[in-house]
Amino acid sequence: MPIKEEIAAFAQEFGAIRRDIHAHPETAFEEFRTADIVAEKLTDLGLKVYRGLATTGVVGTLSVGTSNRAIGLRADMDALDIHEENTFDHASTIDGKMHACGHDGHTAMLLCAARYLTETKNFNGTVHFIFQPAEENVAGGRVMVEDGLFELFPVEAVYGMHNLPGVPVGKFAVQPGSAMASADMFTIEITGKGSHGAHPHQGIDPIVTGAEIVTAFQRIVGRTINPIETGVVSVTQFHAGRAMNVIPETAVIKGTCRALKREVQDQIEARMEQIVSGICAAHGLTYSIEYDRRYPVLINTPEETSKAVSAAIAVAGEENVLYPHPPTMGSEDFAWMLQDNPGCYIRVGNGEGEDGGCVVHNPKYDFNDDAIVWGASYWATLVEQEFGGSAA
Ligand SMILES: [Zn+2]
Ligand SMILES: [Zn+2]
Repeated sequence: MPIKEEIAAFAQEFGAIRRDIHAHPETAFEEFRTADIVAEKLTDLGLKVYRGLATTGVVGTLSVGTSNRAIGLRADMDALDIHEENTFDHASTIDGKMHACGHDGHTAMLLCAARYLTETKNFNGTVHFIFQPAEENVAGGRVMVEDGLFELFPVEAVYGMHNLPGVPVGKFAVQPGSAMASADMFTIEITGKGSHGAHPHQGIDPIVTGAEIVTAFQRIVGRTINPIETGVVSVTQFHAGRAMNVIPETAVIKGTCRALKREVQDQIEARMEQIVSGICAAHGLTYSIEYDRRYPVLINTPEETSKAVSAAIAVAGEENVLYPHPPTMGSEDFAWMLQDNPGCYIRVGNGEGEDGGCVVHNPKYDFNDDAIVWGASYWATLVEQEFGGSAA
């Protein structure tokens, strides 16, 4: 029987788990209840379970046969600080928190695949099922890596998956190479000299200088980066002054930069410093810059991308695998796991949603339970193709 049909026979169980997790969302490093559910399910299935990496991370290990080869499959478990506006039965029971990115579904899909692989054992090798906390904003994946994830559980390759609203259920999307952008955050404080608004010549105005800096930043992408490459510099905050007749002493400029290549990321950071220091020097201000490289570029390696595509095609058919699929300037914590290992990050269609556009991070978002069988079948197929045939 095809994998998908076998999984479909029990996928409902994981829909129920998914809705339970959805109703009880937990945010970064507080996924205690969710981690308990995951660990209990993996233990019930007979897997070896390791807990505590990045506080709430869970790793389940399934070894079959004699091969010493191993791969990692990763799901994320965290919710967001968003107040859910859905009214269905499994809507969030916690004010101000919800699963608006579908990580409840990612967790359910990987558990569902673990059940299939444990029961069928139609492969020869080791699979580490990695459930990470805090994908959103605070890089729980990086913390797991720093806590020794891949020293404890060495892998040849690691694979990740995210749902993709707007793409029909039953389709997959993959981009080889740079698939998601690096995400850097910057805070610049410039200091001049406060004065009366009527006597600007007695002060050093950080607002006019700050405005010049904001404008000059637009030249980084427009005039420094090769037009063939991709970069984003967005100033998203500008804070200065409190009174209408006072030129303030300081201004604070914050924002985010994105790139699809490390070289471009380096170039943006270097140019930013040159612009700030040059403009401040010209006008007699001092400055400080905090430039925080929060997420690296997510790079799908060639061989592992082919394996992912081949597994997706086996599950959904060639016409339902969007490959290549355009990269996005969004970022993903899984990039940290791909810094240490080859691997591939794939998207699974989440459908259009009832009102036609159920986008992630929206208060009306919901993961589509119909996607569970597709995602879990992809995981299972990937393992069976990688570790070919039965160990028996
Ligand atoms: Zn998200
Ligand atoms: Zn997400």
